[in-house]
Amino acid sequence: MSGLPIKQLVHDVLLQVHEADQHQLIYCQDCQRPVTAENYRVQVQGEHQHHFVNPDGVVFELSCFQAAPGLIIAGKATDHYCWFQGFEWQYAHCEYCTTQLGWYYENALSESFFALISGYLRAGK
Ligand SMILES: [Zn+2]
Repeated sequence: MSGLPIKQLVHDVLLQVHEADQHQLIYCQDCQRPVTAENYRVQVQGEHQHHFVNPDGVVFELSCFQAAPGLIIAGKATDHYCWFQGFEWQYAHCEYCTTQLGWYYENALSESFFALISGYLRAGK
C-alpha cells in the first residue's frame, strides 16, 4: 500500500468504477447510494458468503468485499466476539446515511476486508 490515505485511494477507485459501469455498483439499501462494487467481492476463509449468529441470537448473512469506498469505519478495533479468526473488527457505516451495513476486519498482517450484511445491500440496476 502506498503512503496515500486508504480512504482517498478507495474513493478514487470507486469513482473510476462509477464512470466505467454502473451495473457493477452495489448500493446501500437505505439511501440508494453506491457503497461498493461487484469486483470487490472476495472469498474469506474459502467463502464469499458467511452466516453468523451474534451474542443476542440474531443471524447475519454476510458478503465479503475487498473494499467498500462508500463506508465509514468507526469504533475501536477489537477481537471481542470476532467471527473471523485472527482478525479485529470495527463497525462499517454507510457514509451517506450512516446506517451500519456491516463490519471492517483487519489482522496483524494488514490483511483487511469488509463483511457486509447481504440484506442491507442492493446490487446494480
Ligand atoms: Zn446509506
